[in-house]
Amino acid sequence: MSSRIGETLTYPVAKGGIRPEKDTFLGGENPLESMVARFDEAAHHLKLEPGLSKVLKHPEKQLIVACPVLLDNGEVEVFTGYRVLHNTARGPGKGGIRFDMQVTLDEVKALAAWMTWKCAVVNLPFGGSKGGVICDPSTMSMAELERLTRRYTAGIIDLLGPDSDVPAPDVNTNERMMAWIMDTYSMQKRHTVTAVVTGKPVAMGGSLGRREATGRGVMITAVEALKLRNLPIPGTRVVVQGFGNVGSISAELMAAQGMRILAVSDKEGGIYNRAGLDIKEVLAHVKEHKYLKSYSKADRVTNAELLELDCDVLVPAALENVITDANAARIRCKIICEGANGPTSADADQILQDAGILVVPDILANAGGVTVSYFEWVQDRGGYFWDEETVNSRLEKIMVSSFQECAVMAQRNSVSMRIAAYMVAIDRVATVHRLRGMYA
Ligand code: NAD
Repeated sequence: MSSRIGETLTYPVAKGGIRPEKDTFLGGENPLESMVARFDEAAHHLKLEPGLSKVLKHPEKQLIVACPVLLDNGEVEVFTGYRVLHNTARGPGKGGIRFDMQVTLDEVKALAAWMTWKCAVVNLPFGGSKGGVICDPSTMSMAELERLTRRYTAGIIDLLGPDSDVPAPDVNTNERMMAWIMDTYSMQKRHTVTAVVTGKPVAMGGSLGRREATGRGVMITAVEALKLRNLPIPGTRVVVQGFGNVGSISAELMAAQGMRILAVSDKEGGIYNRAGLDIKEVLAHVKEHKYLKSYSKADRVTNAELLELDCDVLVPAALENVITDANAARIRCKIICEGANGPTSADADQILQDAGILVVPDILANAGGVTVSYFEWVQDRGGYFWDEETVNSRLEKIMVSSFQECAVMAQRNSVSMRIAAYMVAIDRVATVHRLRGMYA
């Protein structure tokens, strides 16, 4: 059991700590293998030099830190934290920090690489990184979470900095924790450094529009995909899995474009109304009751059923690996716009393509969040803050032009939008590597 300070310490796995070396991933697919499968296919189409391909598959830096934390009950727990910088050829590493019991080094490595491709596909001057701490925040007090966040920040501080590695929120981390990271870093550096982290509260250097940015990017890319397929926007039937930040804002903004939101879900299940849901009313319901299940003006559906509903646009905005070879053949939409990271497994890609479904891949569809994180970093460094209209119009410009670049790449090479997005991204990173040459 845990010990009091001064006694001999043992290391139980109660709220976090050192997990047995077993990689469990939602849906069973190792995200690193999934990333490498897509990378290899895109690299093949690009005829990427084998040496460069090797370089781009290896993370530049991987750090594992032990984070001892004094718990409220006086006991000590040691949490394991990771920070991985995948590639910084184009600029500082950019990537979130997740607090979760499922965090593994392989997962963090895959997510860091995804960030490299995501930043490159929307042409931001960032590389890719990611961090994670094995812990269960739902069992921890605010004070414990603050001590853990600060100790983890201190552990990885040599990697961090506005010019080297800039974290952001991810699963189970939020703007409050970003404020603690900024404060811890600033206290060590002896001056305030707002640009070391993004996703901060607006009052301390955060950006207007950041909270809505990922959902806004999903809506913008969905509109572009509909245009590409010559489908009308008003009346488009939309199904959204996940009703958190990304799902709820995507649904709200798509409804504002005249689309009809047939179904939405959260981890307790979904609600479905063929005539379309009143999204404002559903949002108000969730605000009051937390979950969708007690909403009365719709039928109930399971999360599995929801994915297979007949619709025009499906937005998976919850978890990884929800569309796999087990259900891909039963998906009945025309367009999938991936709000979540990695919702489609690599073996489902071909099934969806054969069925003629246009998949707007995660690294493009949900890049709105990192794009406005970039705007936040720019505003912090310039010390000059933009109004929300400016943020939103600059976001739209980047999302539309990135979508079009990927669509052209897909058409020219007869590949899916996913492989095209990887090709655009890998080509940009590879170009910089060639120009910089190899440091020896
Ligand atoms: P969130 O925690 O705000 O919301 C997650 C939603 O998914 C909740 O409604 C939750 O109830 C639901 N959910 C959880 N388990 C589920 C299950 N088993 N089945 C169905 N629904 C379930 O998270 P978020 O910020 O909206 O992130 C969602 C996804 O989007 C994640 O994959 C995340 O990595 C990705 N993403 C988020 C951002 C961002 O800016 N928030 C940016 C890029 C990618």
